[in-house]
Amino acid sequence: MARLIVVSNRVPLPDKDGSPPPGGMAIALNAALKRQDGLWIGWSGEVKPEEKEDEPPRLSVREAGGITYALTDLAQKDLDEYYNGFANRVLWPIFHCRVDLAEYARHEMSGYYRVNRLFADLLMPLLQEDDVIWVHDYHLIPLAEELRKRGCRNRIGFFLHIPWPPADILFTVPIYDTLLRGLSSYDLVGFHTDYDLSNFAECLRREGCGDLLEGGYCRAYGRVFRCGVFPISIDTAEFETLAEQSASDKALRMTYRRIEGYDVAIGVDRLDYSKGIDQRVEAFRRFLHANAHRVGKTLLLQITPKSRTEVPEYMAMQKDIAELTGRVNGELGTIDWMPVHYINQSLERRELAGLYRMARVGLVTPLRDGMNLVAKEYVAAQHPQDPGVLILSRFAGAARELDGAILVNPYDPEAVANAIERALVMPLDARVERWNAMMTRLREHDVYRWCDEFLSGLRQA
Ligand code: UDP
Repeated sequence: MARLIVVSNRVPLPDKDGSPPPGGMAIALNAALKRQDGLWIGWSGEVKPEEKEDEPPRLSVREAGGITYALTDLAQKDLDEYYNGFANRVLWPIFHCRVDLAEYARHEMSGYYRVNRLFADLLMPLLQEDDVIWVHDYHLIPLAEELRKRGCRNRIGFFLHIPWPPADILFTVPIYDTLLRGLSSYDLVGFHTDYDLSNFAECLRREGCGDLLEGGYCRAYGRVFRCGVFPISIDTAEFETLAEQSASDKALRMTYRRIEGYDVAIGVDRLDYSKGIDQRVEAFRRFLHANAHRVGKTLLLQITPKSRTEVPEYMAMQKDIAELTGRVNGELGTIDWMPVHYINQSLERRELAGLYRMARVGLVTPLRDGMNLVAKEYVAAQHPQDPGVLILSRFAGAARELDGAILVNPYDPEAVANAIERALVMPLDARVERWNAMMTRLREHDVYRWCDEFLSGLRQA
């Protein structure tokens, strides 16, 4: 079987004992890499010391759990321009339709292309003739084009983990055409939803440089390649077991005792403006105002690990959300009850699974999200005989699959507030019926299927 080479910005390394790191995608890719004698290449997470910045980049290769990892350190300038700059201050906001937050700087765009060239230079000498390459996410859009320039004829696939924006939004990126052309160098380009794929096709059509063809193919910039929809998922069976175990774990239950007996609505999101956290807290405040009988009995548990702390928009958000939750607690809280429990730290998956299971409502209300795995995890963690209700933003990719959720517009706080009350009064038979529909989908379409379908699409390309 041909070797599989996975390329991503960050590489989730296994634990010291060789077991894969937590996270469905890492587990599925690890399994695929083991089957195919694979290699995972990316940034080590380390910054090059200043005195070594001019030295040529090197890969440090190590074996763990049957997989070879090849990692490179990046210079501070690379990180500033490629990662904190063009990737996270232009591509991330624009692909999430936040044109107002994009900060375009030409030198950062050059840094983005420079790091992609660096990845191509490091990868080329490692390649064997029939290796299959799978590139992940918006940090590395130009990689295939750079590899092709260096003579690479291998099959190369690309999967975008974030949404693809409508044409008028993409066209606000000054170099949008080089991004489109970059994607046409792949053999398979995968998106989460048909909406993302049709936005991509619309960009090609409007630009007059290509279109979708019959049978899952696309022609652009004189090249024909495959395009498809591959909704990422979770390791459903593993998450079900994790939730079951957590629910009966005495030590964990002790840590939950402060919120036991309350009707809990749970939100779990990295601190990111795309997640709609402030709109959600406001919706919860309105829900309490509109339903006086819930005051003192219901709470919002909002778990929000910090992220991208070097990007200014994220620093500002950190402060804004802490202030907002403080205001709502000040306004509505009492000596023995706090409406919003805000945890600005990362929790372990085991703990999250237990908390999802005890929450009667899963509040997943991003303003825009490629997929949103938290929505899927919340469903998989529920007790089959007494499941909670998922409230899901119609702007999350997951809304295309989880039709047993109450779908909401996250920009409409009153609609979200009404949905919370509707979820809390929903009878058991309706909750079970909705949950069964979503669980059937998640059991059939887990992360292993996502991985297998993408790789078999790439082999056929
Ligand atoms: N997560 C976690 N600990 C936390 C918060 C989140 O392990 O404290 C995990 C969560 O279980 C999920 C992932 O982070 O698997 C978030 O994925 P999602 O697709 O929802 O959002 P992203 O962060 O990728 O935008």
